[in-house]
Amino acid sequence: MKKKILACLLILFPIFSLGIAKADTVKSKYIIASDSSFAPFVFQNSNNEYTGIDMDLIKAIAKDQGFEIEITNPGFDAAISAVQAGQADGIIAGMSVTDARKATFDFSDSYYTANTILGVKESSTIASYEDLKDKTVGVKNGTASQTFLTENQSKYGYKIKTFSDGSSMYDSLNTGAIDAVMDDEPVLKYSISQGQKLKTPIAGTPIGETAFAVKKGTNPELIQMFNKGLANLKANGEFQKILDKYLASGAATTSTITVDETTIWGLLQNNYKQLLSGLGITLALALISFAIAIVIGIIFGMFSVSPYKSLRLISEIFVDVVRGIPLMILAAFIFWGIPNFIESITGHQSPINDFVAGTIALSLNAAAYIAEIVRGGIQAVPVGQMEASRSLGISYGKTMRKIILPQATKLMLPNFVNQFVIALKDTTIVSAIGLVELFQTGKIIIARNYQSFKMYAILAIFYLVIITLLTRLAKRLEKRIR
Ligand code: GLN
Repeated sequence: MKKKILACLLILFPIFSLGIAKADTVKSKYIIASDSSFAPFVFQNSNNEYTGIDMDLIKAIAKDQGFEIEITNPGFDAAISAVQAGQADGIIAGMSVTDARKATFDFSDSYYTANTILGVKESSTIASYEDLKDKTVGVKNGTASQTFLTENQSKYGYKIKTFSDGSSMYDSLNTGAIDAVMDDEPVLKYSISQGQKLKTPIAGTPIGETAFAVKKGTNPELIQMFNKGLANLKANGEFQKILDKYLASGAATTSTITVDETTIWGLLQNNYKQLLSGLGITLALALISFAIAIVIGIIFGMFSVSPYKSLRLISEIFVDVVRGIPLMILAAFIFWGIPNFIESITGHQSPINDFVAGTIALSLNAAAYIAEIVRGGIQAVPVGQMEASRSLGISYGKTMRKIILPQATKLMLPNFVNQFVIALKDTTIVSAIGLVELFQTGKIIIARNYQSFKMYAILAIFYLVIITLLTRLAKRLEKRIR
């Protein structure tokens, strides 16, 4: 009798647990990376919140399965890199399951199927792939559409222009900088339904199923939970509701604008909070990195005029290496490269925060230039002064401090101010790692409302005002020090 009950329990238990369909969570919170503009899957609404099929789906699944998520929207290519570098645990971004990707990603069950399709302006005469000869086709970096275009390039003889995000790609198509775009069919169809003056003259080509993904071999429980949650949402009709919300006629749109965003005033009114927070990040980046750069720069600058050859050599190597690497590559190396390297050695994911990575890159970069400013300043003081002072028996350190540095500092000050302005402008470059500073904030807003002329004008004025104010302030400080 006892045995029978036990056997019954043993059989029932797995059935029971299947019925509840919940997987165990392992992490207290999962970071999910996504695209920045890929409507209807993911896009910002007029309240500057990310919505779309993918956003609703992942949130509903997390709720159903009882796990916590934090979503970041750096763009498709950056989201892929983030998952590979361990900055994020999973990616949901209308991502296609391709054989090549299966080598580096584990995919969930599919929740959609998409083709890649050519989009041209309504007025375009392009009607076949043959018509693309010598024309330029835009595509987003890292996408299945890009693979398709590269594979067929020699056959049709078009040029390919790669973009990091959808909004700049569609902007370029609208302004005529490119002749066509290649993108997922639901995305192009959606933008046409939203009033974009585009058409799709050629039938689409299948690129596979759309699914959620994690880095191969990591977070298996996340895939498990996604699949179980998806199955539950399909069974209870919630999945269909999400699709209908975005795809049925009269569905949620990108332009449920409460304030008119076609005027500068409207743009400011609707986005000032976002812009100010972007500005805050920009200022924090510039100020913190410049403060660090001054310390490092002065140390290496002093090394470069030191009587010791080894110190001079160290300084020279530092300046040459850092100055010889473009800032964008430095930032990408720190943000994606180093975590990837550490993981390949230790087997543990060790992501670095984007703000920290950006600050390090900016600090190193500015430090190299400041070291040169310091060297130049000191060397501009006539050597005779050092010689005279030393021959009077005064030590090197004291001569430096009392005689050389006070004069050199005066010479350096204007260059410091100049370098700070450059540092502030350079913050725009680190937006490449997905950091939402002022420039990236503007791009995200444009992705939603296509107001590139007015929005870039607003950004330019923002930077102009800030830089003018700060240089005035610095000039005043400079005078006081003198
Ligand atoms: N489905 C395409 C791919 O996976 C595009 C995805 C996207 O741009 N977000 O490559």
